[in-house]
Amino acid sequence: MRRCNVCVLPETFPGITIDQDGVCSLCRDFSAAEPPGPSARLTEALSNIIADAKRQNHRYDAVVAFSGGKDSSYLLHLLASRFGLRLLAVTFDNGFISAACLTNMRNVVSALAIDHIIVRHRQDHMNALFLESALARVYPDHLTKFGSSVCISCIRVVITTMLRVAIEKNVPLVMLGNTPGQVLASDQELIFKDNVIPHPLRRQLFARLAERTGSWAYDYLMLSADEYKTRPFPTIVSPLPIVGYDEDEIYRVLAELGWSKPTDVDPSSTNCRLNAFGIVRHKNLYQFHPYDYEMSRLVRLGILSREAALNKLNDPSGTVIDLASEIERDLLCRSCDNCRPRA
Ligand SMILES: [Zn+2]
Repeated sequence: MRRCNVCVLPETFPGITIDQDGVCSLCRDFSAAEPPGPSARLTEALSNIIADAKRQNHRYDAVVAFSGGKDSSYLLHLLASRFGLRLLAVTFDNGFISAACLTNMRNVVSALAIDHIIVRHRQDHMNALFLESALARVYPDHLTKFGSSVCISCIRVVITTMLRVAIEKNVPLVMLGNTPGQVLASDQELIFKDNVIPHPLRRQLFARLAERTGSWAYDYLMLSADEYKTRPFPTIVSPLPIVGYDEDEIYRVLAELGWSKPTDVDPSSTNCRLNAFGIVRHKNLYQFHPYDYEMSRLVRLGILSREAALNKLNDPSGTVIDLASEIERDLLCRSCDNCRPRA
């Protein structure tokens, strides 16, 4: 399979072309269009939002979506140490968190003295949601270009869970550990309100998945019409692309917090075993890797070398396939008639 010489995008990635010099259309457009680094306007917007949250003087300034992976662990440190925010770390346990990650979580919140809540939803519902997300094309193509459908569903459950906790506890901000590679197209994705999309349109996005699982899926993937009417509505912020992202610095800080890299996950994840299953199923359905876009963007931004990106995308020892098969067997078994809990 041919990949762009500059970044790593493969010729199978939707909507791109690779020219006779081996350069993809995104790389050609990039150098002309995008200024390097975060804008002064976003930096100012972030500091205004943080100052405003502190002024409100609630018990917590921000809920942080804490997966226990390297980015959200570093984010907790950044927000507590550099910005002096009062934080509530909230973890959605999807049932596939690596054991080493659970230890990392305990070490990080303990080192930073941060309150921590772990939320677990009905596991039979979660298993059905992840399995059905992987088996068919349940999301529109413009979303699956940037990640696996399993990840899209899981992240939607994360955002819904974080917003519910923030609304319930009167917390003005929800912070996400997105990296510059995970932010798709525009500045609006770095600071936004999740209540601007009309409710019926939002439901439409999850309709194909809910048809396969049951209408209960909506309750996990989105808020209710009434919940979206909450005022003031929490603001969702992804600070890492705004303040700058340096993997070496992140790993240096994490070592001090007692965080170490789990070995029971695939190379693209530092916390979640389900990720491997999402990757393998996505590659089968779409003929490209769900991390192709993110890795290519990190290369284009000069954050990751092309070689390092290829190492994360290739699976020479078959670790990802092995782990994916193990998870798939587990998911299928847990949803069989013998294992499935009675309604
Ligand atoms: Zn390229």
